[in-house]
Amino acid sequence: MTQYQYDLHTHSTASDGALSPTELVARAAQQGVTHLALTDHDGTEGIEEARQAAAAKGIELIPGVEISVSWSGGTVHIVGLQLDITNPALQQGLSGLRDYRRQRARQIANKLEKAGIPGALEGAARYASETMLGRVHFARFLVDNGHATDMKDVFKRFLVKNKPGYVSGQWASLEDALGWIHAAGGQAVVAHPARYKMTNSKRRRLLREFSSLGGAGIEVSSGNQHPEEVRVMAKLAQEFELLASCGSDFHSPDHAWIELGRMVTMPPFVTPIWTQWH
Ligand SMILES: [Zn+2]
Ligand SMILES: [Zn+2]
Repeated sequence: MTQYQYDLHTHSTASDGALSPTELVARAAQQGVTHLALTDHDGTEGIEEARQAAAAKGIELIPGVEISVSWSGGTVHIVGLQLDITNPALQQGLSGLRDYRRQRARQIANKLEKAGIPGALEGAARYASETMLGRVHFARFLVDNGHATDMKDVFKRFLVKNKPGYVSGQWASLEDALGWIHAAGGQAVVAHPARYKMTNSKRRRLLREFSSLGGAGIEVSSGNQHPEEVRVMAKLAQEFELLASCGSDFHSPDHAWIELGRMVTMPPFVTPIWTQWH
């Protein structure tokens, strides 16, 4: 019997990943992944290339995306799976988010300049792919130019609330994100639910709202997650009658603690999201 191995949350150079879609698929195949979702931030530009590479490697490519959502004063990520990426409502929504990201990058750079750090936009752009300039690229620029000792230091002293380079803003609403995913015939999944800094009651409120909007599942198992946390997320999936997804959130081979297809196994009492696919 064939043993399936799912990784339903990964990034390529089409957003802030280090590997091209082709390289990502090759690495996934090497790691024994049989079903791979490419879920780049707010865009599906990598899907076509990944699809071709996956066909050549004999693995199944699930077209996906990871949508940035502003919810209750913070940012949450919603993964869309099994999308028809030609859907106009989806593409229009994503394109609006990319416009916002570009505009935000300019604002971050302006604010850093006012704090005595010039050249951040050009500096950060050196670390970014053509499609996406995000906070992580500004962070690398700040570290490499001696403004901070490491990434952790950056996100303590820059780019966060009340610090230089912070820009508050609006991503998609939860309702819009789910609307686009559903318009494209896909399933919505709350990405890495354990990673948000929110109280348990707030997390439940998020899941309740998500569920009432027709959300399908949550990532019960995410890259580099503690088994106990996986169990807690599995319980939440059960409580809210949501399907269970698992994805590494792989970005780069440099992050040795996260590998494609390498997640804690989900408890048997959850219903994996792929049971509806076969
Ligand atoms: Zn995310
Ligand atoms: Zn991600």
